[in-house]
Amino acid sequence: MQGYCIKCKCKKEIADATEHMMKNGRCAIKGRCPDCGSVMVKVIGTIGKVEERVENLPNPGEPER
Ligand SMILES: [Zn+2]
Repeated sequence: MQGYCIKCKCKKEIADATEHMMKNGRCAIKGRCPDCGSVMVKVIGTIGKVEERVENLPNPGEPER
């Protein structure tokens, strides 16, 4: 899961990423920047939307022939 670090001003892989459900029903990933350690938050939208996207993927993790 990648997020934007405001301190490094570029996209980074989020370290120690944990999911958080917000009051408005949206889901967010909260973690730390692996380089500078500042807090990174990435809103990934509603959980329903995320599940829908995962279901549409054909065999996730399986290499295509
Ligand atoms: Zn950073």
